[in-house]
Amino acid sequence: MTTITDRLAIAHSRIAQAAQNSSRRAEDVQLLAVSKTKPNSQIIEAYHAGQRCFGENYVQEGESKINTLSQEFADIEWHFIGPLQSNKTKVVATLFDWMHTVEREKIAQRLNEQRPESMSPLNVCIQVNISQEASKSGVTASQVLALADKIALMPNLTLRGLMAIPSADVDEQTATEEMAALQALYNQLAQRFASIDTLSVGMSNDLELAVAHGSTMVRIGSAIFGERDYSKP
Ligand SMILES: *Cc1c(COP(=O)(O)O)cnc(C)c1O
Repeated sequence: MTTITDRLAIAHSRIAQAAQNSSRRAEDVQLLAVSKTKPNSQIIEAYHAGQRCFGENYVQEGESKINTLSQEFADIEWHFIGPLQSNKTKVVATLFDWMHTVEREKIAQRLNEQRPESMSPLNVCIQVNISQEASKSGVTASQVLALADKIALMPNLTLRGLMAIPSADVDEQTATEEMAALQALYNQLAQRFASIDTLSVGMSNDLELAVAHGSTMVRIGSAIFGERDYSKP
């Protein structure tokens, strides 16, 4: 049986290989373990295997996990990577270290107001819709700089970069074009703001392509924790 520890090691070696193929350093690509729908026991197992950064998609689930685990495992870094409604921003502002999916000024404003002064600024990424599908979340490429300018002025937020979820089930050429467009946009943003150091892209199935296009943080769920079962309560 493969354990979470084994699968984490495999994910790290995939990242290392992908980095090497693009003449990048493996340590420049962080692994974010996406633990949504998975129990605390699996987070703890990954923690004991050395994993410190965990990503959660749902406000209530994340809140409950952080409240249970943050005392004993104080050095876990919690990343919110799901869609966020404006009436739920307080949980993210008060409990999480990172927020990857900012796509509206109003959400950023609320996070900035609700981030406690006693905590370090919340690290944020702007979610960009590189596939131009209307149904997808994220701002369009042409809206990124305007939103970035607003966030850069908010004292309790630190703008760290961009986050994207590329189209699934597209041909290789389309996938490559999307990643290249994202990378170009990221480079543009990095020239404008000194705080930019994070390109959050790449999941279990496309981490190699993402690392080849400059990803600095891959978000890996099923390759570490196994397939998710959404049917369970
Ligand atoms: C679920 C999720 C992931 C992880 O996806 P896997 O395919 O399981 O690796 C990454 N990013 C986001 C935003 C997700 O919702």
